[in-house]
Amino acid sequence: MSEQNTEHTPTTTTNSGAPVSSDQHSMGVGADGPLALHDHYLVEKLAQFNRERVPERVVHAKGGGAFGTFTVTNDVSKYTRAAFLQPGKQTEMLARFSTVAGEQGSPDTWRDPRGFALKFYTEEGNYDLVGNNTPVFFIRDGIKFPDFIRSQKRLPHTNLRNHDMQWDFWTLSPESAHQVTWLMGDRGLPASWRMMNGYGSHTFQWINAEGERSWIKYHFISEQGHKTLTQEDSERIAGEDADFHTRDLYEAIERGDNPRWTLKVQIMPYEDAATYRFNPFDVTKVWPHGDYPLIEVGTMELNRNPENYFAQIEQASFAPSNFVPGIAASPDKMLLARIFSYADAQRYRVGTNYAQLPVNAPKNEVHSYSKDGAMRFDFQKAEVPVYAPNTQGGAHADPNATDETPGWESDGTLQRAAATLHPEDDDFGQAGTMVREVLDDAARERLVGNIAGHVAKVTRDDLRERVFAYWTNVDAELGARVRAAVQPSAPGSNEDPEKVAVEA
Ligand code: NDP
Repeated sequence: MSEQNTEHTPTTTTNSGAPVSSDQHSMGVGADGPLALHDHYLVEKLAQFNRERVPERVVHAKGGGAFGTFTVTNDVSKYTRAAFLQPGKQTEMLARFSTVAGEQGSPDTWRDPRGFALKFYTEEGNYDLVGNNTPVFFIRDGIKFPDFIRSQKRLPHTNLRNHDMQWDFWTLSPESAHQVTWLMGDRGLPASWRMMNGYGSHTFQWINAEGERSWIKYHFISEQGHKTLTQEDSERIAGEDADFHTRDLYEAIERGDNPRWTLKVQIMPYEDAATYRFNPFDVTKVWPHGDYPLIEVGTMELNRNPENYFAQIEQASFAPSNFVPGIAASPDKMLLARIFSYADAQRYRVGTNYAQLPVNAPKNEVHSYSKDGAMRFDFQKAEVPVYAPNTQGGAHADPNATDETPGWESDGTLQRAAATLHPEDDDFGQAGTMVREVLDDAARERLVGNIAGHVAKVTRDDLRERVFAYWTNVDAELGARVRAAVQPSAPGSNEDPEKVAVEA
């Protein structure tokens, strides 16, 4: 094979810039002899190739994304002082969408929640809102997260996903009922990332210029409308085009069909939290719209595809710990655990200095006292002190700069305990509301079919009984229909079962 036409192209170089004489032939003893170890160009190529990947994310491994613009269309300044949320403001941003349980290369269309991770490059630092396309989550305490994810991934000996494991965990964690109901419904199979809503899911805090606090929830409503796939279509597409959603987003932006979402928020006065009928910091619950209506904030438009998937999407590092002044955490235990674990995952996955990469770096200047570490390329002038406090003109912390204090009132004995229940808190209530009041007959019929198809792969009888009890507790009629669909000939399968206790 001959070398390529060289007329108008530069000479290939090694990584250190020296010219390379061949891209096609290793250096050997004669044309047919052994290869030489001192062919450093061959060694460099193969060694670099071996190191081309960073560890894939433990969750949300398969995804895609794009850059865009967030534009504020309403005045919410009485609730937050965040600079990027002030009237008329425009801010550059990045979005990454993903499945949760699948590894890299797994089909985009499998039933799963979808990640909806956003990074706003604000003048006050990066604000990351690392949400999902669902307003709730499976568990409410981060200590259960590794167990939950392992139950949805693969068995250690077969390396296969396993329905017994999934339902074992779900039925032993009744707080999952709302999210599993959502997952088994139509929205568990979005037609595209463009046609799904995004939610911050957790409750956050907004703080205004006077220091007044409110609790808020984020809703990104798709302007493309909400469309979903049937189970049959999702399975067919998974076989035909595993990258269906990745391709859809990329091609839409390439043809100028830029997807847009309207950001709306629910705002709860700070004092309401103590007496609200649901614990407002429980991520397995929503705040019904009737209690706290949606208020428009702005529009997010995705309008620029990445130029390099690895550099700009795979290495994009989102962390819910990236707050800006005017936005802060809430007592949501799941959020508090994520505030540690995401930045830590990026330090492991991409490296200690992941925040220096262009996709992760803020647009404003960084004056941190973090130093050194692998692959550090950014450094201060020699005269800038490396410690604080100092008398040498180094950066100083400003007690008024952030909203970490006051955070919220908290008192009591240090202990391991479930959060306080509010009057209407129970694990199955909101799931039942969705089944009875949000879904129509046809959607309920599909829900029964989706659950039954999934449960049919559960092998243990005792576990199936637990599953029927779980759905009966969501809604008695739903439980009976699921049992009848899974065991059409079982005695009593058409009876209305009693409410059954599910041990936690
Ligand atoms: P509403 O009637 O005011 O809102 C129901 C909401 O359900 C809709 O606005 C829509 O949310 C969402 N929805 C519609 N179809 C589906 C579906 N097939 N699967 C999942 N969600 C769907 O009632 P409430 O606010 O009182 O909520 C009732 C139930 O609706 C909740 O228990 C929860 O299960 C679900 N829900 C509530 C949300 C909330 O923040 N209040 C958000 C999403 C779901 P959207 O407009 O965001 O698309």
